[in-house]
Amino acid sequence: MSASCNSCGGGSCETGADRRGVLKGAGAFLGTLLAPGVTLYAFGGAQAREPNEPASAKVRWGLLIDVNKCPPGCNMCVTACREENGWKDTGHPQTDAQWIRKVKLRDPKSGATREAPVMCQHCESPPCADVCPTGASFKRADGIVLVDKHICIGCRYCMMACPYKARSFVHEELHDQQPHAPRGKGTVESCTLCVHRVDAGRVPACVETCWTKAGGAMIFGDLNDPASDIARAVALTASSQIRADLGLNPGVRYQNL
Ligand code: SF4
Ligand code: SF4
Repeated sequence: MSASCNSCGGGSCETGADRRGVLKGAGAFLGTLLAPGVTLYAFGGAQAREPNEPASAKVRWGLLIDVNKCPPGCNMCVTACREENGWKDTGHPQTDAQWIRKVKLRDPKSGATREAPVMCQHCESPPCADVCPTGASFKRADGIVLVDKHICIGCRYCMMACPYKARSFVHEELHDQQPHAPRGKGTVESCTLCVHRVDAGRVPACVETCWTKAGGAMIFGDLNDPASDIARAVALTASSQIRADLGLNPGVRYQNL
């Protein structure tokens, strides 16, 4: 198995040269799009992993989403995820893939509404992995929860166990997959935190798009690194986890929810 394969959590899918090229390209791309003073580091940019370098347990990748900066009706993050990972909206919500969705929230007291993007919450104690009979659902050492498509038998226990309804099942034959995001009929899938990007030192597609085209509502980074933007933001301003009462300690946090 390879160390950066999105399907198996493993690293020989990309060469070191490819990664350096990607990083260089990303820096140039972002440099042209960002406002003065906003750097790649402000997104929470990761360090690229070397091929075959195992994911580090010192890191806990996470997302912080400020719903006050998430404009109603904006679907940019969903579109970015679709394009990046090759899943489609075919107009059949019961069976379509749904790695990320916008959820409308309403405060019953004030009637105020908000919208929040919801994806796999990358739980520290993932029930999806607990119930998986083959070990296909697993958490990497750095906190990213993945599905090994090679050993997923499509039983869908993980879909039932996930309290966030973050997983979907591939019902149809697929023909136009992205090479970095392997998918397969008869297997379960969910947000990978764009692990192929993270392993190349880039931020997830939804985060990049939110910053460059929308409200800048998402910060990605290492929750374990007190100097990271995400850890500093979590330390400075109150944040919450969806269904924190379940004790799953998701890596996805929200502000102003
Ligand atoms: Fe698993 Fe669902 Fe938690 Fe993601 S949100 S780690 S799919 S239980
Ligand atoms: Fe989709 Fe990547 Fe964002 Fe997850 S991190 S919701 S896979 S774009």
